[in-house]
Amino acid sequence: MGTAVRRALYPGSFNPVHYGHLDIARRALTVFDELVIGVYVHPAKVDLFTAAERVALIEEAIGDEPRIRVASYNKLTVDYAKDVEASSIVRGLRVFSDFELEFRMALANRRMAPQIEIVNFIAAEEHLHISSSTVREVASLGGDVSWMAPPHVVAALKRRFEEMTSQGVSSSYMTSLGKD
Ligand code: ADP
Repeated sequence: MGTAVRRALYPGSFNPVHYGHLDIARRALTVFDELVIGVYVHPAKVDLFTAAERVALIEEAIGDEPRIRVASYNKLTVDYAKDVEASSIVRGLRVFSDFELEFRMALANRRMAPQIEIVNFIAAEEHLHISSSTVREVASLGGDVSWMAPPHVVAALKRRFEEMTSQGVSSSYMTSLGKD
């Protein structure tokens, strides 16, 4: 074994980032030297926050942590992992229903890129029920999401839903677009 930098890619939609994501990122840094947080952007999907906005919200949440880099991508996750020279892909596991999807994705990814290891972190108990879709849903209805996401994310949600209301766009339409 050499002393090569152990770099992992943490991919996801992060729409928007919340405390569950941040906990996984922090814990990943106890196992890996460097982490690239990759915001996956679906080309044909209209999301509540643009790729650039999601990246900026994550960057602000991370603060001064030189071991983490945030970027967006829109290709196969294993191909992006190769681009950034990550030897592993990090994912979080919340509930049993995550497991089947993660299991299938891990097997497909391994078939496509056997050299990349998939590492799953079990969610902390206090974050088990936090998801981006819950954050969006509760925020769209004016509920308190300060226990799920950092203050600047809460403020960005408030601004976005106010903008949508003033433009006459139904926020329930936006929140129900896709899962996380
Ligand atoms: P995706 O759109 O791929 O589901 P998300 O942005 O929802 O991506 O999440 C990215 C990753 O973070 C996934 O691996 C997901 O399981 C994990 N994650 C999401 N919410 C939590 C949470 N509350 N606790 C731990 N991990 C989480």
